[in-house]
Amino acid sequence: MKKIIFLGAGYANLSLIKSLSKEDLKKAEFLLINNNSYHYKTTELHKIAADESEKNIKIDLKSIIPEEIVIIQDTAIKIEPNKLYCKNTDYDFDEIYIGLGANKNTFGIEGLEETYEIGDYENALKTKEDLYKNLEKSESIYKNVVICGAGFSGVELCASIAQVCKSKDIDANIYIIEAMDEILPMYNKELAKVARKYLENLGVKVLSSHKIIKKQGDRIYLNDEENYIDSKNIIFTAGVKGNAVIGNSVFESKNNRVLVNEYLQAPNYDNCYILGDCSLIMNNDRPFAPTAQIACKQGNYLAKSLSARLNNQSFKEKFSYKDQGSVCSLSEKYAVASVQGRDFSGFLAKVLKKFTEIKWQYKLFGLKGL
Ligand SMILES: Cc1cc2nc3c(=O)[nH]c(=O)nc-3n(C[C@H](O)[C@H](O)[C@H](O)COP(=O)(O)OP(=O)(O)OC[C@H]3O[C@@H](n4cnc5c(N)ncnc54)[C@H](O)[C@@H]3O)c2cc1C
Repeated sequence: MKKIIFLGAGYANLSLIKSLSKEDLKKAEFLLINNNSYHYKTTELHKIAADESEKNIKIDLKSIIPEEIVIIQDTAIKIEPNKLYCKNTDYDFDEIYIGLGANKNTFGIEGLEETYEIGDYENALKTKEDLYKNLEKSESIYKNVVICGAGFSGVELCASIAQVCKSKDIDANIYIIEAMDEILPMYNKELAKVARKYLENLGVKVLSSHKIIKKQGDRIYLNDEENYIDSKNIIFTAGVKGNAVIGNSVFESKNNRVLVNEYLQAPNYDNCYILGDCSLIMNNDRPFAPTAQIACKQGNYLAKSLSARLNNQSFKEKFSYKDQGSVCSLSEKYAVASVQGRDFSGFLAKVLKKFTEIKWQYKLFGLKGL
């Protein structure tokens, strides 16, 4: 029987797995290898870091993975054409589906490696624990919260922390730093301004056109040596690159992301499929931003292609992707959105965000998850 490995239990590989039929799962030996025994909903990790009361963000893999797939908790180190090297054991495979997600990208800026981050469950939890312990202290260095990067995750985190502090009467000076001249640079300026105003009304100091030049100890320098903020709570949300395992492996990559072909295969390695944040898909001359949306689409597509191979059918369809737009959540009742060329804000945008969260819950659990 063919040996097939799903590496990583994120949006990409879980979309793939949950789209395979029971019949398909009898036709090969399947392993799911993940460094944790659980899946976390990356798109909702800001809620963990900010201490919003949220459930269902961390999900035991055993509760969602079909019994035909063997779940192994191990950490990948390196991938070769037919061998996966992990911390505990090495694994042979006929096909591998690599969905290891992203790591933080500090663009080589001095000191930024030593910052809090919210890219995985453990880090989001650690950020929260230290943040609220620090905010109990009276010195300003403990009260200053600096969020580096005002893209989606930075803005969502910032809004969440500001709201939690407000509702619990916690005294904090919250800054969000952005090098571009407006926050949410992927949005039209007018829409981004709506989000800026929302943050400012929550008391957040929005520092756009402020470039982080370095961090030394607890001091972060903005634009030049004269401008700095001292803070024990510096949280990095400014950029991601693919998982370091990719850079360690045989594939040609840029920022640990592999420019896959139209069947999502790594060039020269037909049995290695790469999906989610570790893959690079071009949108004309620029890559698509790594999102859960594209990761899920890739997973769904690869389920069709894998199913065809398992059933000895030919499969000619190429992967294609059209960005549907995005929503940036600012509170339980308010969001800003740009969807299919239309910009809007308010409760309707929030409903859309909730809808995508419910859709994922449904994909994982079916009706019983709702
Ligand atoms: C805070 C935040 C908010 C976001 N908000 C949005 C949003 O609103 N909308 C949107 O579309 N996108 C959003 N994104 C981006 C989105 O979460 C990612 O694009 C998506 O999770 C990518 O899916 P993936 O399957 O490639 O990786 P992930 O979902 O990150 O899964 C990777 C999996 O690999 C495992 N893993 C990692 N390293 C190893 C290893 N060495 N060995 C074994 N297993 C390993 C991890 O435990 C994890 O299970 C957000 C990201 C963050 C960090």
